[in-house]
Amino acid sequence: MCPLTASVRPAEPPLALLAHRRDSLDVYARYLRRESYRVEETDDGRQALVLALSQRPHVVIADADLPGIDGFQLCEVLRRDRLTQATPIIVVSSDTFPADIAQAARVGADVLLTRPCILRDLSNALEFCRMQSLRVRERAAAAQHRAEEQLAHSTDVIERARAIRNRTPLSHALNRHATTSPPVPPPVLQCPSCDAWLVYRDSHLGGVNLSRPEQWDYYDCPSKCGTFQHRQRTGNVRKVSSSSF
Ligand SMILES: [Zn+2]
Repeated sequence: MCPLTASVRPAEPPLALLAHRRDSLDVYARYLRRESYRVEETDDGRQALVLALSQRPHVVIADADLPGIDGFQLCEVLRRDRLTQATPIIVVSSDTFPADIAQAARVGADVLLTRPCILRDLSNALEFCRMQSLRVRERAAAAQHRAEEQLAHSTDVIERARAIRNRTPLSHALNRHATTSPPVPPPVLQCPSCDAWLVYRDSHLGGVNLSRPEQWDYYDCPSKCGTFQHRQRTGNVRKVSSSSF
């Protein structure tokens, strides 16, 4: 699906990953469904990790005592992965001693709840995480939108550059001409031979393509040293004929 349409599609129910011990899995799952969540559930830590990475849930509720990978380890791994580093995670632990709180903070859990946790606590935690998740997803959608705008702009610049390059031969043919009012004012120059001020005659415009325009300015020496050509692109001055009058 196009990321742009994904960001504006009608909101579907948020997905909760419930990784919990078998004894309380059903109670929490029923509660979450009643609160309009879609629920992926497992009682195994490794399976929870697979589900988190593949399903990208809006919130993860992980028991601290899961077999395989415990809730804290699961949290730590998910925080290290780019896909899940911003996913809100609620860890449910049998204890909330200072050591547990410190561990929850260290692994990046958003909320630490004590088991058995009453549904109102879970509800408050979910609301906190929902707001957190909403902000993260809004920021991601805005960043995506900016990236698409930049890409569109770059494509436009490339297309225009291509169009200019394609029509260069025509412009080249049309633009090659002599004029006394060239785009770049001819500089005031002294004769390389006698130091007299050169008299400007006209300029010739041309060049291989539009990105490298050329302008040659022609001057006569009042002391009859000859005609001199000044090339704008290089600044070189050279004599092109011996006698100007
Ligand atoms: Zn001269």
